[in-house]
Amino acid sequence: MHSIAIDGPAGAGKSTIAKRVAKKLDFIYVDTGAMYRSMALYFLRNGIDAGDEEKISEACKEIEVSLEYENGEQQVLLNGENVNGLIRTEEVSMMTSDTSKYPKVREKLLSLQRELAEKKNVIMDGRDIGSCVLPNADLKVYLTASSEERARRRYKEQIERGIACNIEQIEKDIIARDEQDMNREISPLIQAEDAVLVDASDMTIEEVVDKVISLYREK
Ligand code: C5P
Repeated sequence: MHSIAIDGPAGAGKSTIAKRVAKKLDFIYVDTGAMYRSMALYFLRNGIDAGDEEKISEACKEIEVSLEYENGEQQVLLNGENVNGLIRTEEVSMMTSDTSKYPKVREKLLSLQRELAEKKNVIMDGRDIGSCVLPNADLKVYLTASSEERARRRYKEQIERGIACNIEQIEKDIIARDEQDMNREISPLIQAEDAVLVDASDMTIEEVVDKVISLYREK
């Protein structure tokens, strides 16, 4: 099986790029952030405090996360319920970053992610794909862009989804989330040694897609 790992900070365009590359190469796109988000939604719904590791770890036993594909689009199921439309709010984003640092939360999703890559050709995006989940990926890309640019893109995306938001707040949240994701003990966001750095600040989506495809073909 073949695999491409795309890691990088929040809002760098990982999912947009990965989706398009997946289409062009006929790979399955796996959005691992959505899996962590669905777990965070469970904790929020059940009023569990992000700081309470014990309760979070207990709650992990009650959670089943699975993926389905509808017209090629990944759908994430939380205990059988499709929660795709509920996991993109800023509240869920912060809760996800606050809880994805716990070992029990990560353990829960790691094997599921690896199993998917064993069965299918995948392009998987997240924070620790190249460094932890798929250490033998055929290609590893670390995709980044300036925080201003990332905030602009996330703002546009939220507005298009009809979610009211404030760009300064989005930039603050993105920076706080990256800080936390980069500095946690387990599986922090890091550029894997053998990952190719792509700074998309001044690139169009098409340029980044072409770059990733040509990097893959070179390998
Ligand atoms: O990529 P996305 O913004 O959806 O990820 C949401 C959060 O999930 C990240 O801020 C990070 O805390 C967590 N995450 C992670 N490992 C991954 C993917 C996401 O810890 N592989």
